[in-house]
Amino acid sequence: MDEGAGVPIREVNTGTENSNPYAGMSQKECTDRIRKALSHPTVKFLRQHMEKAGCPVWVRLLMAVNCKEHNFAGGYSSQNGVSVCCNRMTFQDEINQVIIHELIHAYDDCRVKNMDWKNCAHHACSEIRANHLSGDCHYKRELLRGFMKIRGHEQECVKRRAIKSVAVNPNCSEAAAKDAVEAVWDICYNDTYPFDRAP
Ligand SMILES: [Zn+2]
Repeated sequence: MDEGAGVPIREVNTGTENSNPYAGMSQKECTDRIRKALSHPTVKFLRQHMEKAGCPVWVRLLMAVNCKEHNFAGGYSSQNGVSVCCNRMTFQDEINQVIIHELIHAYDDCRVKNMDWKNCAHHACSEIRANHLSGDCHYKRELLRGFMKIRGHEQECVKRRAIKSVAVNPNCSEAAAKDAVEAVWDICYNDTYPFDRAP
């Protein structure tokens, strides 16, 4: 039953925020929930496709961390793999969501030859895909964030979140992030691979 068996999850403690009584969950609980998330159907689907694409990345792919910087729920880097900001997590659903989003970045890193995260357009493309395909902009989540569901809102949400993430890239200014997202929008929004269409 334990689908997460064999996938190591590293705990990385950066200190400070553990002393905050309002911070999310303990790393122990977070690690358990990351392991649980590995049996989520979409996570399984992405894992299978990464294996198929020849990315033996599981060795270092998942980390339970405390995040001090920015207001993000997780992150991905070629060197460190996927990190989940445990101190910002409350529910299993949030953890599933972060892992799906970050795995799409990991998948892009594997699939796209010469993926250059310093290149704003490359980064923008992966953010558009990750926000679109993970369901981050599903209307229920948008309602919880206080945004009303209106026609076309999913796309606006994907755009808003993609720009926000690219703007944090030290190589991309806010203006460069906007330009990059606009420039690659049509191609990357419609590129749903490995999904047939946005799940
Ligand atoms: Zn992202």
